[in-house]
Amino acid sequence: MRLARFNDTHLGAVDEGGETLADLTDLIADLAPSTWARAPGDPVIARLAQIMAQAPALLPDAPRIPIESVTLNPPVATPSKIIGAPVNYHAHLDEAQADAEIHHGNTIARIDEIGCFLKATSALFGPGATMELPFADRRVDHEGEVAVIIGKPGRRIKAADAMDHVAGYALAFDMTVRGTEDRSLRKSFDTAAGLGPWLTTPDDIVDPSDIAFQLTVNGEIRQSSTTKMLIRSVPQLLEMVSAFYTLLPGDIIMTGTPEGVSPVNAGDLVTVSSPDLGEMSVRIAGQANTAGSATTTPAPERQ
Ligand code: MN
Repeated sequence: MRLARFNDTHLGAVDEGGETLADLTDLIADLAPSTWARAPGDPVIARLAQIMAQAPALLPDAPRIPIESVTLNPPVATPSKIIGAPVNYHAHLDEAQADAEIHHGNTIARIDEIGCFLKATSALFGPGATMELPFADRRVDHEGEVAVIIGKPGRRIKAADAMDHVAGYALAFDMTVRGTEDRSLRKSFDTAAGLGPWLTTPDDIVDPSDIAFQLTVNGEIRQSSTTKMLIRSVPQLLEMVSAFYTLLPGDIIMTGTPEGVSPVNAGDLVTVSSPDLGEMSVRIAGQANTAGSATTTPAPERQ
């Protein structure tokens, strides 16, 4: 099933061909879209198994809506965590070590040594969004990735059991300001985390351990790889991070970016696509470069 969130509070199943979706909002009608003091995690993803069990009875008669007539949102509305996997492709490790504008004097350590990082959940954006460059004078790179979305909660998950905890997959942007600060800051600016165009459940993916994807800038291919090339596989990532914290329904794990990262500029159209997961674009908007702008912040000197 390809499960889309649209017009903020609607849920739909994307039809074969990707042109229309069936409105399944009735299946979550009892969930208030926003309540205070609720438990962390995403309540719609938490009930995914129930939605998938009930959907077939509704699908034949559900109203069909052209996807181009709706606004798609990130398929997870309220993740408790967005987890990033640094340097999880060998070829990206090589390019990061070779390019001073990427490493900024930092030692580029392997994921086995430094583990994962967190991105702010407020950075999340969906298909068709505009990403505003946070600074007028600092390099921002695209990182196209495949994201895993957690369905079943768990702590101390073993790699052998990890796939039981996976709700599905989506395409992701892990946008990155280059500089010396910690990743959790540089990769958390508003609109630094893209997810979409929808959540694809594992039964709709030929081989979840080999999801091919690519990223283009203005139509030119910059990144092209498959999750088969990950240094730490999806089950290994789940085992590693769940040793520290409980994974909750709707948690997003961006599995890492392959080689080919490069800067984005105002006006660029950046697109990630996958035969398994669909296609998602973001337009890059500039930051007004006015003298004395309070938002123009130079990179700090390295201590
Ligand atoms: Mn990344």
